[in-house]
Amino acid sequence: MNDDAEFLEAGRKLFAGEADFFYAAAKPDGLPPVTLPEIAFAGRSNVGKSSLVNALTGRNALARASNTPGRTRELIFFNLGGRLNLVDMPGYGYASVGKEMSSGWVKLVRDYLRGRTTLLRCFVLVDGRHGVKASDEETFKSLDSTAVSYAVVLTKRDEVKLSEQAGRIEATKDVLRKHAAAYPEVFFTSAQTKEGVPELRAHVARLLAERGPG
Ligand code: GDP
Repeated sequence: MNDDAEFLEAGRKLFAGEADFFYAAAKPDGLPPVTLPEIAFAGRSNVGKSSLVNALTGRNALARASNTPGRTRELIFFNLGGRLNLVDMPGYGYASVGKEMSSGWVKLVRDYLRGRTTLLRCFVLVDGRHGVKASDEETFKSLDSTAVSYAVVLTKRDEVKLSEQAGRIEATKDVLRKHAAAYPEVFFTSAQTKEGVPELRAHVARLLAERGPG
């Protein structure tokens, strides 16, 4: 097997096992202790974050949608097969959400990111139909300032014409070149058709392998 095939298989296995909710944190002082390697998912409300988390783990209802009452301001922790934690971060950028919520979001997220030495990568989801918005760039800046390594995942690929997909990726890469902590490659996924999902799993498996045991 070549390298890519090996990680596609490792990624498939990593996400095919048990996936269990184990913690919800609404306040920075309520975070679970740093233990396993983690990956985190952030993005504007409605970007398709819960759909992608569910597609990655092959579940229909692991992650809650942004409109689930009471769950929107929490960091939700899932454990994948005892090897990795997946952290679902609260969505941002809802029109109805005032400044207070955004600064609350920034504080919770910042406090989480600051202390998370085991965070392998934060995935920032961006709606593939529209590309990077001002609020996404604010998030990039926030992540640059905490020096967290992050990568952009464009979502809803099935809604973007094939002829426009490469351009959307290039435009996103252009934005990311201005951001110090951004991973230069861009993922493009569909929770509907599952395109790009195996590649994203493979990327996580590779990060985990590169980190090594312990
Ligand atoms: P969240 O608020 O970021 O968790 O977003 P959701 O996962 O709840 O998705 C928001 C809306 O986008 C829902 O109506 C989903 O059905 C839709 N959606 C999410 N992912 C995709 C996708 O890959 N393709 C399409 N066509 N729709 C999607």
